[in-house]
Amino acid sequence: MKTHSFLAFAASVLILCTTALAQTPGDIDSHIAIAKTAAGQEFRGTFVNLCLPAGAPAGARGAGARGAGGAPATPDRAGWYAAPYKVFDNLYWLGTRQHSSWALPTSEGIIVIDTNFSWAIEPEIVEGLTKLRLNPRDIKYVIISHAHGDHDQGAALLQSRYGAKVVMGAPDWEATLQRPANAAGGVPKRDITVAPEGMKLALGDTAINIIATPGHTPGTLSYVFPVKDQGKTVMVAYSGGTLTGAFGTNGAKWDEYIASQKKIAKAAADAGASVILSNHSEYDGAYTRARLVGVKRETGEEHPFILGADVVQRYFTVMAECASASKLRVGAK
Ligand SMILES: [Zn+2]
Repeated sequence: MKTHSFLAFAASVLILCTTALAQTPGDIDSHIAIAKTAAGQEFRGTFVNLCLPAGAPAGARGAGARGAGGAPATPDRAGWYAAPYKVFDNLYWLGTRQHSSWALPTSEGIIVIDTNFSWAIEPEIVEGLTKLRLNPRDIKYVIISHAHGDHDQGAALLQSRYGAKVVMGAPDWEATLQRPANAAGGVPKRDITVAPEGMKLALGDTAINIIATPGHTPGTLSYVFPVKDQGKTVMVAYSGGTLTGAFGTNGAKWDEYIASQKKIAKAAADAGASVILSNHSEYDGAYTRARLVGVKRETGEEHPFILGADVVQRYFTVMAECASASKLRVGAK
């Protein structure tokens, strides 16, 4: 290579490298800008936690809550207890102030979605159902969005005491069955395993479309299902796992998470879902919204959980765009 052509080549490499370096922060910023716009007023908490580096570190939340090890001490009840609420004609909120569980009564029994910590199962789910004049003995299925202690520690009790069948994604069953027998809340026996292609779970007059959305955990499940608002059918999209895991520079893991958000977003759009639910109040505002359901609606005011199909889509845009920004930020390939 002659000197001048080598210099020209070197200069062009330098320009290419500089361009590539200059583009990365811009791309991060543009993903964050899209996510921020999509978040609007409704999903500020989700945006802050997922998009901003100073927010919760990936995978940190709930880490201390996972099922391995002995039973955690029950935290001060004043910091978490919340009364149960009827949210739709056939959907009941049974959460603590931080974590949500839901009961979906059908013509053939009750489906419980997520079960909270072991110390919350009696006051929130068993007593909560009873307060709402529902019978815990009618629980037929317990669907676990993902196998972290803040959502699954109550599953074994509902299974052993009431004969409920526990439903989980295949990889999360594997993780659960590895737990020691003295894990907080105990270890449920394997009942129903959801494969990557998902499944329809029908009970009486109600069917839940269960969608495998790996990302937060390898077996995370999300759902689309109908509820009734004063007799009118309303479709719900339920996001089963929010924070990105400790993916590091593993680009395939980031891509899997992002693809899952697009998958549940499409299922939600196809069904016309106008409600977005989560298993953490900070993401869907369940603790506050559940109280607002009982307030008389003014003319033209919608049910507090009905946000509209476009707003539901914006939620998943926040998740996918924040993950895209984070993937670039950590230099994942
Ligand atoms: Zn989790």
